[in-house]
Amino acid sequence: MNYTIQKLAEYFEKLPGIGPRQARRFVYALLNKDVNFLEQFSKSILGLKKDMRSCPECRRFFESKNNENCQICRDVNRNKNILLVAEKDVDLDNIEKAGIYDGFYFVLGGLVPAVGSEMPSEVKMKKLFEKVKKEVVAKNLKEIILAFSATPEGENTALYIEKILEPINKKFPIKINRLGRGLSTGTELEYADSDTLKNALERRG
Ligand SMILES: [Zn+2]
Repeated sequence: MNYTIQKLAEYFEKLPGIGPRQARRFVYALLNKDVNFLEQFSKSILGLKKDMRSCPECRRFFESKNNENCQICRDVNRNKNILLVAEKDVDLDNIEKAGIYDGFYFVLGGLVPAVGSEMPSEVKMKKLFEKVKKEVVAKNLKEIILAFSATPEGENTALYIEKILEPINKKFPIKINRLGRGLSTGTELEYADSDTLKNALERRG
């Protein structure tokens, strides 16, 4: 294969869910676009890091426009007593879109892999611990909802978090609930519809 095509295809392959075949389809699709499209496309990619930042409170990405925190963390009408921990931004977006939850969030950035594998650097476990500690000491937090997909990694992550929060929980008792208990096995939050999420939230435990 042509080197130029190969090189770009390799970039696409680094994205989640993209295999070599689909990566090449993207490259050929781009080849068929005009220069103006490609310029706007590259500009949008470059703009990502310029316009977006990670919220220091919940770690989700947001368009900063000179704001320190994201619009959810700035919202004084939200319920300070609940913190929902999600794996990734798209899971949070899906829950927000369903309009079933009015507490705060924390985006973990990834999941804890099966036993024996190393913790990926994108999993912000320490930041989560600090956030919980801060909110608990400020007497805001009463409940944490671990909202991960109903997969072995999701389960593993929930167990891990319950364990690291044990010392805090002994001093300042908080409820730690799992959304996964209300989801059928294999359900991924990213693709769950509003009714499924609503049921899972009501049946959390
Ligand atoms: Zn935030």
